[in-house]
Amino acid sequence: MPFATGTEYRAISVRTAQHQVVLPPMWPTPIKLADLLERAQSRGVPRGWLYLPDEWRAWGTDTEAFMIESDEDDREAEAEQRGYCSTVDGQTLEDIVSAAHSVLKVDSFDGRLEALIYYYRFDAFLPCRGAPEPPPSDEILLRLDREFYNSLGAERAAVPCREPGCGRGAVEPSVFCKVHHFQQVRHRPCPFAD
Ligand SMILES: [Zn+2]
Repeated sequence: MPFATGTEYRAISVRTAQHQVVLPPMWPTPIKLADLLERAQSRGVPRGWLYLPDEWRAWGTDTEAFMIESDEDDREAEAEQRGYCSTVDGQTLEDIVSAAHSVLKVDSFDGRLEALIYYYRFDAFLPCRGAPEPPPSDEILLRLDREFYNSLGAERAAVPCREPGCGRGAVEPSVFCKVHHFQQVRHRPCPFAD
């Protein structure tokens, strides 16, 4: 019974092959960047993080974009192997595009892309079309330091700073004055003394 034997053999090989096959992780369908930004306008972006080619200068209308959920480690690793990087999450992408639309009246792909790139590079919404790069990072850091320092509020005259030899008062949420609380939290000297 050569026919029956052959059938049996074939069935076994298929079964064996199924056991040996290691399925690659399901890769999401790419979305053209232009389409994705269009969908962001109507808040229809799929959940997850937007993966785009590492080099933002190469982003354009036909760039293949992927939305990958943050718990999909396999896909993240594969995206990185493909030269992609994580940029912003879907919600933020919608915020970027809708801010560009409502504040700057942006309705073009170029404008949306500019807003996305600006946010990706500087972690801030595009302030205007053709905006120059923000100040160098140390100026930004200094500004953030100042904001943090100011946020500490007034020092209490009746509660002395715990730092030995410091004659200042402690701020409300701390046993230290503004200067020493800053150093405690930021692990570097405080650039302010007022
Ligand atoms: Zn102090």
